[in-house]
Amino acid sequence: MGAVLGLEVSRLARNNRDWYQLLDLCGLMNTLIVDADGVYDPRQLNDRLLLGLKGTLSEAELGWIRQRAWEGALTKARRGELVIGLPVGYVRTRDPEATEMALRDRLPRRYWIGYNDLLVAFGQNICTPVSPRCSTCPVNALCRKVGVTSVR
Ligand code: SF4
Repeated sequence: MGAVLGLEVSRLARNNRDWYQLLDLCGLMNTLIVDADGVYDPRQLNDRLLLGLKGTLSEAELGWIRQRAWEGALTKARRGELVIGLPVGYVRTRDPEATEMALRDRLPRRYWIGYNDLLVAFGQNICTPVSPRCSTCPVNALCRKVGVTSVR
């Protein structure tokens, strides 16, 4: 028997899917979950209910924090005080067409389609201009996040 220790163990997961995966794994491996409030056995129904509730509350809390941050940004934007640092790019231009031309100059032609699929989807889904999803980014460990003020 093992144990996972933490001050607030529900913080180990960013969403309920991850949290329940952890609970299932701990249940399978006969591992207890321990935090400042108690010791839980994920194989016991009551403990599992309580852990599930903690995970739900933790996920909701993250959502509220995100919502408050977004509303703060909107308020600033309404006052005209919002400054958003764009993620560092491979080229620096003033418009999308100039970016395309600058990239065509630098990247080998045979990779254009692959780069396009990769970079456009990456910019739309992961490294978004506001609150990039660094937690799911494959280059998170390498990225210096220059100018990035809030992440998901
Ligand atoms: S770690 Fe974050 S800021 Fe850096 S490239 Fe990935 S999503 Fe963008």
